[in-house]
Amino acid sequence: MLKVENLWVKVEDKEILKGINLNIGENELHVVMGPNGSGKSTLALTIAGHPKYKVIQGSILFEGEEITSLPPEERVKKGIFLSFQHPVEVDGVKIIHFLQRILKNLKGMDEIKAYEAIYTAIKELGLDESILTRFLNVGFSGGERKKLEMLQAYLVEPKLLILDEPDSGVDVDSLKTIAKIIRRLYERGTSVLLITHYGRILEYLNPTKVHVIKNGKIVASGSIDLVKIIEERGYSAVGDNEE
Ligand code: ADP
Ligand code: MG
Ligand code: MG
Repeated sequence: MLKVENLWVKVEDKEILKGINLNIGENELHVVMGPNGSGKSTLALTIAGHPKYKVIQGSILFEGEEITSLPPEERVKKGIFLSFQHPVEVDGVKIIHFLQRILKNLKGMDEIKAYEAIYTAIKELGLDESILTRFLNVGFSGGERKKLEMLQAYLVEPKLLILDEPDSGVDVDSLKTIAKIIRRLYERGTSVLLITHYGRILEYLNPTKVHVIKNGKIVASGSIDLVKIIEERGYSAVGDNEE
């Protein structure tokens, strides 16, 4: 489904990714872990097509098609959804309207259909519906932001869901809710690329593969056992020791 081949990426003239290879199949859950500044967000944003991240070598294929130079909105239309580590606040846009607009754009739903889908999702996920009349991300706690993003992903049902540290700055209850939504999407056929700094969210998920990125390179790939090694002995225990 997603094939990243020998990907080299520059941001503002700084080389950040140095030859990333990553293969995510249909309905697989891949985890990418790594120390701060290793290039995890860069990888996510490059796959999503953020214009600041320049591909200098290599390619990104999605369902066999080259997407390396497609604009981000085209990638979204193809079924790639990225949840940001730091979502933006948008004053004056109510969440219900924001979600209705997304469903109209991506699924062609009219206002009423979208409204129904949104309320059904809120119920299925056990979220608080009062969130819908609030303004987008304004005054939201970390956990609330993440839950809203996960609701968005759940409604969109992307083919590939990329999550950049959905577990950072959230409490245990929010973490469980977030993990539950990821699991539901995964069970319904979505492939997931989950970027995380800590292994805690993996207590609730069962990844196909775990990759460790250091200094812009994947230095190890394996099973969930890699997470245990990292938790016990740190990132220096995995791959080379350049950093
Ligand atoms: P991670 O998500 O693993 O913490 P990032 O991908 O955010 O790492 O960052 C990798 C490196 O790239 C860091 O050294 C960071 O300072 C740099 N970097 C990332 N994004 C930008 C940007 N927009 N402008 C300048 N430098 C950036
Ligand atoms: Mg970081
Ligand atoms: Mg990051």
